[in-house]
Amino acid sequence: MIISIASGKGGTGKTTVATNLAASLENDVQLLDCDVEEPNSHLFIRPLVEGTKTISTPVPEVDMEKCTLCGKCGEICQFKAIVVIGETVLPFHELCHSCGGCVEVCPEKAITEVDRELGVIEYGHRDGLEFIHGRLRIGEAMSPPLIRKVREYTRPGVLTIIDAPPGTSCPVIASMKDADFVLLVTEPTPFGLHDLKLAVGAVKILKIPCGLVINRSDIGDDHVREYANTERMPILMEIPFDRKIAEAYSKGEMIVEAFPEWKERFKDLLHQIEEIASRRK
Ligand code: SF4
Ligand code: SF4
Repeated sequence: MIISIASGKGGTGKTTVATNLAASLENDVQLLDCDVEEPNSHLFIRPLVEGTKTISTPVPEVDMEKCTLCGKCGEICQFKAIVVIGETVLPFHELCHSCGGCVEVCPEKAITEVDRELGVIEYGHRDGLEFIHGRLRIGEAMSPPLIRKVREYTRPGVLTIIDAPPGTSCPVIASMKDADFVLLVTEPTPFGLHDLKLAVGAVKILKIPCGLVINRSDIGDDHVREYANTERMPILMEIPFDRKIAEAYSKGEMIVEAFPEWKERFKDLLHQIEEIASRRK
């Protein structure tokens, strides 16, 4: 089962929920931190890192000795990532989606592929919990290919928890696609509600069952709850704004470490998710 934990906006407690859920289960669970632009689950999980892998993507390089400036590569590219300008062909590697189309259509076989580094993947363990995260190279704009590489570590037969990036754009979709359940984390404020609505819109497009965790649940107003009712979206957990929880967080401690009684609450959260997901099958 794959559970993707997402939120429309950053700072709502998405990583708190992902790490605590994973840590409360201890065995037969893996946590994939797909927030590759700013991974921070490792700060709480503190895994023993066992390996690092550099991740690259193929991008085109043109041999101008062979090129006849026919323009076919530029015509097929949907991303304007290769352009014929005057007497030369310019590939823009930062825009390239590595589809290989230009290589295929070049009649002169003038285009070859070279590797462009996207970032690294680090993997390790914390006891029975398997941990994997990606770190996007500084300056790199394309995170979905690296997210897909992190997701290749998904092991069948094991519960996979994905810490998705914030927002509702391509990186989030890459982190939610093919999940069995999306757990949305929000806070009961106007900003939280606004971004929650965007996130729900994305989940609906993907047709994945979802539920809600309200963090800092005793601040703000009731509009998030009213919206959840209207959307028939179950509120599966509420985490109150508690000074002791905030202090533990600031020291890099998980709730289930500082307050072991929360373990059962996170296990119960998983049971509720499993029940909802099984009803949809
Ligand atoms: S590989 Fe695809 S995206 Fe990249 S330049 Fe060629 S056609 Fe464009
Ligand atoms: S398709 Fe090949 S030959 Fe034509 S412009 Fe592009 S690189 Fe040159």
